[in-house]
Amino acid sequence: MEQQSHIIIVSNRLPLILKKTEDGKIKVGKGAGGLVTAMAPILRNRNGTWIGWPGYVQEEDSDDKMLPAMQSAADGYSVKPVMLNSDEVKNYYEGFSNSIIWPLFHDFTSKCIFLPEYWTSYQRVNKKFAATTYQNADDLDFIWVHDYQLILVGSYLRKMHMRNSLGFFLHIPFPPIDTFARCPWRFELVSSMLEYDILGFHTIQDKRNFIRCVRKIIKDVQIDKNAESNERVSELRLGNRVVRFGVFPISIDFNEFYLKAWDSKVYKRVKKLRNIFPDTKVILGVDRLDYTKGIPEKLKAFQKFLTLFPMFHKKSHFIQLVVPNRREITAYADLKLKIEQLVGEINGVFGTNEWLPVQYMFRTLDRNELISLYRTCEIAFIAPLKDGMNLVAKEYCACNIDEKGVLILSEFAGAAQQLHQDAILVNPHDIEGMARAILRAFNMPSEEKNQRMRNLRENVKNKDVFWWLNSFLNAAIEKDLSSFPQVDEYFLVTRPVNSST
Ligand code: UDP
Repeated sequence: MEQQSHIIIVSNRLPLILKKTEDGKIKVGKGAGGLVTAMAPILRNRNGTWIGWPGYVQEEDSDDKMLPAMQSAADGYSVKPVMLNSDEVKNYYEGFSNSIIWPLFHDFTSKCIFLPEYWTSYQRVNKKFAATTYQNADDLDFIWVHDYQLILVGSYLRKMHMRNSLGFFLHIPFPPIDTFARCPWRFELVSSMLEYDILGFHTIQDKRNFIRCVRKIIKDVQIDKNAESNERVSELRLGNRVVRFGVFPISIDFNEFYLKAWDSKVYKRVKKLRNIFPDTKVILGVDRLDYTKGIPEKLKAFQKFLTLFPMFHKKSHFIQLVVPNRREITAYADLKLKIEQLVGEINGVFGTNEWLPVQYMFRTLDRNELISLYRTCEIAFIAPLKDGMNLVAKEYCACNIDEKGVLILSEFAGAAQQLHQDAILVNPHDIEGMARAILRAFNMPSEEKNQRMRNLRENVKNKDVFWWLNSFLNAAIEKDLSSFPQVDEYFLVTRPVNSST
């Protein structure tokens, strides 16, 4: 990648927020979130372009009317929308992306629906994204494709004879070979990934899973001897091409959360919330409505905690925020029902006139409300069955300016790889183990809490989203791979949580 080249980001969604006004018109606003915050300055400096779907269904291939509004919301770089029609949303987005790759890559193979029409649509839409990229790229531009919806874009760009440097980052986990091999299109997916020059994963486990799939599925590939060790970046050779692949855990804009946590409005809200829960400890869960997030398991663990340790009745609250999922899949409706039944059961059995053990919210909060909750709650309870990273865990730490909070974190969240030393790690399949982890968090001495939270915050601060962006881009250009320090490897805890309580 040359210094003067432009950068082109290709992702399923453009970083825009669309709202329908009362008269049915669509209003375009700036997108939020760590990825946009990190990308925006580099896109502005490098005259960059962001290619993606604006998020609304449209039967025609272009929508010039909306373009000026989208462009002004993008603030300093170009946006090039790729439109999706209702058939594509159904088969490419809901279908192949979210009913095949999402469950497969999160080890939920029983939820995969391997329909050939999903595959056809996935190919067609990936080709469409590649065509828009081709039309907007110059020879030296670095093209960075994001996530599981667009794995094939690189191979279509190569078929169009593009020789540009191509990068790909996978924001979800990469599954083990035994899981991945079930996919009827496993060869096409892996060989398309090898068309990129640099591939990024969140964890060493994802990188290893990928390399084992390559070994099994692709012939005549030469892979670095140490590719399965804990090297951050490795290489493989395929004919005369070199493909790099590495570990780059995504993160948040630490300073943004840290500064907002000091905001006077947040402070007032925290005080108000504290008055609602006097003399009790508050546990917080924040999850999108998704079967990977382990929400029922967490509720069962809290139920177990109240059963095993009645001295904490009236002295503990569990606030569980569930963020609605945009996807209209039956599995999500069933999950919502299951969660609501469990909340009702716990409150029905343990609740009194003065005490409602579980406070359940099903909505999206704005940033300040969320940060106020992060600041109010003594314990963050994050227990996905499988998660690429989990940014909520990092946001909780960034906002914990009093350094009195405790992070309970699933071993199966990518964030555990980075935060394992100072979080209380749990196995979300072990309900009693999680109940005991809550007890451990409740009983943790203040000095230990302070020390652990200070370490967690330091860790998140040092490896923020800007660090993530720079390490990925440096790995694309750096000649000497030994300049990337090895990954601090985490092994599953051999001692059960309850033995230390
Ligand atoms: N979030 C939000 N509003 C809410 C709850 C959550 O904006 O009411 C954000 C949260 O700040 C975080 C993201 O949603 O940045 C969730 O990211 P995470 O990596 O934890 O999970 P994902 O939903 O991407 O799987």
